[in-house]
Amino acid sequence: MTVSLDALSARQIAAGVAAGSFSATEVARAALDAIGHREDDVQAFVQVTEELAYDAAARIDARRAAGEPLPPLAGVPVAFKDNMNLVGTRTTCASHMLAGYESVYTATCVRRMLDAGAIPLGKLNMDEFAFGSTTDSSAFHPTNNPWDLARVPGGSSGGSAAAVSAGEVTISLGSDTGGSIRQPASLCGVVGMKPTYGMVSRYGVVAFGSSLDQVGPFGRRVEDVALAMNALVAGGRDPHDATSQSCEQDFLVHLDDGVEGCVVGVIPALLEADGVTSEVRMALREAARKLEGAGARIVEVDLPNMASAIAAYYVLGPCEAFSNLARFDGVRYGYREDGCSTLAGQSALSRAHGFGAEAKRRQLLGAHLLSSELYERYYLSAQKVRTLITADYRHAFEVVDAILMPTSPTVAWEHGTISDPAQLYLADVFTISNNIAGNCGISVPVCLGADSGLPIGAQLQGPAFGDARLLTIARALERACDQAGVVAPACAGRGGELS
Ligand code: GLN
Repeated sequence: MTVSLDALSARQIAAGVAAGSFSATEVARAALDAIGHREDDVQAFVQVTEELAYDAAARIDARRAAGEPLPPLAGVPVAFKDNMNLVGTRTTCASHMLAGYESVYTATCVRRMLDAGAIPLGKLNMDEFAFGSTTDSSAFHPTNNPWDLARVPGGSSGGSAAAVSAGEVTISLGSDTGGSIRQPASLCGVVGMKPTYGMVSRYGVVAFGSSLDQVGPFGRRVEDVALAMNALVAGGRDPHDATSQSCEQDFLVHLDDGVEGCVVGVIPALLEADGVTSEVRMALREAARKLEGAGARIVEVDLPNMASAIAAYYVLGPCEAFSNLARFDGVRYGYREDGCSTLAGQSALSRAHGFGAEAKRRQLLGAHLLSSELYERYYLSAQKVRTLITADYRHAFEVVDAILMPTSPTVAWEHGTISDPAQLYLADVFTISNNIAGNCGISVPVCLGADSGLPIGAQLQGPAFGDARLLTIARALERACDQAGVVAPACAGRGGELS
């Protein structure tokens, strides 16, 4: 009997490798086969690392042959957003600025996945430097939504969501500064988690907004995401990241505890907000009913300052990005354009030609807002709004365990149909406040839209370091919605068989 990787969870793959049902090398071959059959359509990858994959698989197989116990993700195919360093790969941030940049060290998050036995299949496409919600701003090529190739996968971690949705890998990592894990997860019909700020080390991940950035996993099941979380926190605090915390724990222990006795907050006014489509509204009402059916108590809460979150984020984010991206000047890092006799001129030319439009827009905005005349009016005000939003959440989480809301106001849209940057910024309306407050959040696929037939995700947000509880609630929602493990129909079954 042939088994397809499409049908297996991360836990089943690791168990199969440990039991000798198939080898890690066979899994690597099957994953490369799936990529070979599906990638022309999806274009999730910027680099496929066949050699690294076979090397890692051979090491797992050798450990098994030597009778050693295998780690929890042994043989599980994974891939990484291309803002994460991995020795032996380029780390480009999908930008001309870093097009030839070879990683000189490995990010802690990547290292921990590999230490857990995962097989690295490659690096994934993204919006340039993680600015965006479509992945269309990649300097190399767009990525297509596996459910409908004419549509965007969301962003900025669009490659990470699409690769998992297409069944090219079982787990991927992305980064989320204002929604870049949860939003593409929702648009591609997979689970995507943004852990609490500080839970996962950012060391070796190219920074966008250092006070907002957080690494997290994608999977087709909450359980796969929980397993990845175990790996990401294993080993405790990372001394290389001053903001990382010691959060070592087993996210599987209480995963199936259910939601009996849990209190989940909803904000009815949010569903009536401009731009929320009726199918998303219906899907979220149904998700609340299902959680209630599973034993949760649903109560109304309010986050009164959430309406100011986008404005605050599009001040704080660009200001932090401006300072983080200053190093890419063709002198210290990145693409260098010759043809100017002064260092300053060379740096200006390199930046002018190395960065795409959105990366320039963010940096110009940040530079402008941080100027001495404007600083108090914008940056300082945004920080005050940040304090208010954080306090709103604190009050809400005194009475609820999690808050349920949409991840995205709409399903995936067609490439090129939203060109106004300000309109794109509105796509982040439900995700941003979570980063501003540093809390945890997760998007879980709940259904296909009644009008579009495309995936809709529901977002659960939890308090800082309430990640384990959040996963338990997400698991209960997943079970009630019966969407676990789905591979996008256009990709399912094309290659990927374990012989
Ligand atoms: N879409 C948001 C932005 O463009 C979020 C990006 C992210 O989380 N990296 O800033």
